[in-house]
Amino acid sequence: MTLWLDIAVQTPAHSQIGGLLTYRHFRQSRETGMPTEGALVRVPLGSRSLLGVIWAIHDSPPADLRADSVRDIEGLLEGIAPLPAVWRQMVQFAAQYYQRSVGEVAMAALPPQLRDLSAIQMGRRLKKQARASTDETPFAPGLALSKQQSDTLAQITAQPGPFLIFGATGSGKTEVYLQAVQRQLESDPLAQALLMVPEINLTPQLEERVNARFGAERVVSMHSGMTPAQRLNSWMAAHAGKARIVLGTRMAVFASLPHLQLIVVDEEHDPSYKQQEGARYSARDLAVYRGRLEGAKVILGSATPSLESWHHSRPAAQGGRYQRLVMPERVGAGQLPFVRRVDMNKQPRKTVLSSQLLTDIQARIQRGEQCMLLLNRRGYAPVLHCADCGWKSECSHCSAFRVFHKLDRTLRCHHCGFTERVPRACPSCGNADISPMGRGTEQLEEHLAELLVNVRRPDGQAVRILRIDADSTKHKGALESQLAQVHSGEVDVLVGTQMIAKGHDFRRITLVAAINPDNALFSSDFRAPERLFSLLMQAGGRAGRDAGQSSQSEMWVQTFHPQHDVFAALKQHDYPAFAASQLKQREQASLPPLSYQALLRADARSQAVAQLFLNATSQALQAQAAQDPSMAELLNQVSLFPAVPMSMQRVANVERAQMLIESASRMALQKVLATLQPLMHSVRSSPEHKGLIRWLVDVDPLAI
Ligand code: ADP
Ligand code: ZN
Ligand code: ZN
Repeated sequence: MTLWLDIAVQTPAHSQIGGLLTYRHFRQSRETGMPTEGALVRVPLGSRSLLGVIWAIHDSPPADLRADSVRDIEGLLEGIAPLPAVWRQMVQFAAQYYQRSVGEVAMAALPPQLRDLSAIQMGRRLKKQARASTDETPFAPGLALSKQQSDTLAQITAQPGPFLIFGATGSGKTEVYLQAVQRQLESDPLAQALLMVPEINLTPQLEERVNARFGAERVVSMHSGMTPAQRLNSWMAAHAGKARIVLGTRMAVFASLPHLQLIVVDEEHDPSYKQQEGARYSARDLAVYRGRLEGAKVILGSATPSLESWHHSRPAAQGGRYQRLVMPERVGAGQLPFVRRVDMNKQPRKTVLSSQLLTDIQARIQRGEQCMLLLNRRGYAPVLHCADCGWKSECSHCSAFRVFHKLDRTLRCHHCGFTERVPRACPSCGNADISPMGRGTEQLEEHLAELLVNVRRPDGQAVRILRIDADSTKHKGALESQLAQVHSGEVDVLVGTQMIAKGHDFRRITLVAAINPDNALFSSDFRAPERLFSLLMQAGGRAGRDAGQSSQSEMWVQTFHPQHDVFAALKQHDYPAFAASQLKQREQASLPPLSYQALLRADARSQAVAQLFLNATSQALQAQAAQDPSMAELLNQVSLFPAVPMSMQRVANVERAQMLIESASRMALQKVLATLQPLMHSVRSSPEHKGLIRWLVDVDPLAI
């Protein structure tokens, strides 16, 4: 008997083979297993042998196919259970929604080693895993919950969700997640839970806490920092139902979990939940979709929810779909920091730290408290320049300046990586006196050391300053050891980028200062105020987490615009007011979450070609609408904007343009996008688009 199989395999992006490929399977004898939907197979493609997933099985060949052109599968991967139907449904949805092929999404969702290992190697792995112990040690007891925490947990137990926990920084959200997980796992001996975090490396504390609570043998991690072998092991443990908890970053949303019953998305506002290449999915949105599909409860949590989730959690009577659970108080008697806005217009020119702030920092160090200074720019200075001729340290490959790094005397482009030693003199006029403009974390660290040279800690020792940013944490383990220094109290002042603002449970910090947050105020991106507010609120949330501290914790904001809405709302710790005013503006301008967007992006050798391609696509769409009334009706509901250069127009010698597509109807937008792919393939074949390198579609883009 012959079977015809639709199989998802990795096909090159934008190849015309968008969907599934058809293969054949002869059943000759009993020794070859029977193919089932969801099973993993190896199939030939060209001269290669690829991993695939059986998507559908038919008794007869598809009508449009020449039977003699179909190849046979090479074999089934024995010993690994088929991927569940709901998993395939989620992958299919993601592929369709984010405009990629099913095979690409499916293969990206599987651990790479599954593709690479031979049958023998795989067999060995499976045996080893079968031997691994599954001792059932009891769970460690949770903390005694505060009233606020137990009320929240009771709601989660009683209601279907999805939930948005809107809980202040330090309100004990994590404990609620853990106890919700515990309840679920105890109520069903097979139940599995997925716990998602923005970046695991940033929160080693959480991993320890989860392992300690549930037993390390029940927990697996999934994130990009793992070796291929580790990823395969985690994946198989989850797929086999052995791992009860998967703790992971965005990629974990695709983990195969046959008994999934609970999904937690911690810090749900974090932009790193959006994948920025390949299928540009939002793991948060997919988590909600997956929860509904599988009947698993979904908990999103944040002190500064995304405006999308906030809007979805409005009262049900107004159309809200998520249930909002509020936790305004910090655990114990910890108070949120008092916010001080320093008007930098009243400071002497070129002031880095206002004198009041400096005095306060000194006093806190002398009392044995810690301070944290946030400056969202790494390196010594963002630009080096020559006052004589006006030369600036531009990158020759990008529309950006190269950043001056004093520690290793380099000029480095943070976009393409182009690095050179700092020139001794101006490359343009020979002037020996070239100087840094602006300030980065390296410079702030150096400057602070000078300012604090005479200050002593309570033990009489000199002040210790630590910088944490992408440069200081390049080497494996560096971040962990740096965070440990902060936790142990070795460090008095912590200087860093947004990396230090996220999620850490620092116990001794009583002062947080944003040194120069103004840049974000005037960005052309409509999400900039939301992001800035969230960053500052999260940063402030690191202060005063220990109620035992005797002094009032403070958050200082040095700004030239002290009256700005963002800072006024921050002063009141009033996220709901801030969200309401932002949503109102978004509504007036028809922006998300009150409309839906997609970006069409083109990369080319020249800006003209990139834009031409996008505009030609738009014209082709309109031409199609002129022929087809149903298309015309769809286009009526959608705005197509002209192509424009991206705000970072050139990166690594590639010119980038984008075209915005917007609609009040998600369905209309989706339907238009679906017609775009074949259209772009035909537009591309025209000779005037020579020089086009690639295009991509970003659905629900996070940056405009
Ligand atoms: P969030 O995630 O809301 O910022 P965390 O869950 O990290 O807050 O809790 C903040 C701190 O309070 C942590 O150190 C945590 O161990 C502690 N904590 C949380 N809940 C309780 C509780 N019920 N009793 C005592 N301490 C708690
Ligand atoms: Zn010069
Ligand atoms: Zn560059």
